[in-house]
Amino acid sequence: MHRSKATRGLVCTSDVHTVNGAIGERTDQTLGHEAVGVIHRLGRQVNGVKEGDRVAVNAITPCYKCENCLRGFTSQCTQMLGGWKFANVRDGVFAPYFFVNDATANLAPIPDSVPDEAAVYTCDMMSTGIMGAEHADIPVGGTVAVFAQGPVGLMATAGARLLGAGLVVAVESVPKRQELARHYGADEVVDYTERDPVEAILELTGGQGADASIEALGAQETFEACVKATRPGGVISNIGYHGKGEYVKIPRAEWGVGMSDKTIRTGLCPGGRVRMERLLRLIENGRVDPTPMTTHRFGFDEIEKAFHMMETKEDGIIKPLITFE
Ligand SMILES: [Zn+2]
Ligand SMILES: [Zn+2]
Repeated sequence: MHRSKATRGLVCTSDVHTVNGAIGERTDQTLGHEAVGVIHRLGRQVNGVKEGDRVAVNAITPCYKCENCLRGFTSQCTQMLGGWKFANVRDGVFAPYFFVNDATANLAPIPDSVPDEAAVYTCDMMSTGIMGAEHADIPVGGTVAVFAQGPVGLMATAGARLLGAGLVVAVESVPKRQELARHYGADEVVDYTERDPVEAILELTGGQGADASIEALGAQETFEACVKATRPGGVISNIGYHGKGEYVKIPRAEWGVGMSDKTIRTGLCPGGRVRMERLLRLIENGRVDPTPMTTHRFGFDEIEKAFHMMETKEDGIIKPLITFE
């Protein structure tokens, strides 16, 4: 039985969705899926790490044995979205100690030079955001629009830059988020409250539309805008959590009545040790510093306040960092 002692955690908007019933009824379940810690007790069959090691574990902890894992779709472990186990099918990480399944495949040692409060961003924000850019198949020098600059969108912006985009357009209205979008590599920031973002993106790309659009909000309006803002042959990379309604609708004309060569990609935060090691390497070598996204800090005993603020998004909150001791 492997257990980690939590040191730092982050409250996610998904946690708020869970509290509000987005994944169905849950009772007596510990919340949270973003935390790093120290190995407290190690199962006898776990290799590669030892008790006392500082480790990061992704929000998604696949088994690496089932059919979907073996087919390469580890986030869909056993069933659709099944790699998401913390605070979904078992207790999450907002506790002094938490259990990590299939620990050999899921625990990544944190490099000495990477502080816990930076490493904790690899659990979801960096993995999901950068996946958005990876799925977008951005040509070197290509154009990318990123809709919404919450923490996941900001990491998609950073990912687009890392992958060689020639123009990154961020769509966002909140000043602090606009500022961070520029910090993480957006060349242009479009405020959708001031002008139609699709029009702006078309204008910025010489009327062509972007090579790829990344949906980082999870709303009908932004999804539609992504389809409209993407040129034929481009990719709409969805990383937003579409938690409401029965359907997500596709605008028919801009989809080329189903024949536009536009690709809609979906995905869920890639987990596993190797993914975590790669993300930690980005921090270790200064490619990405996620810590400017920490706008608020709370002790574990104040975590309810952090949840409330993530729901209301008051005081310009982007990410609240939780300290466990
Ligand atoms: Zn999360
Ligand atoms: Zn599996």
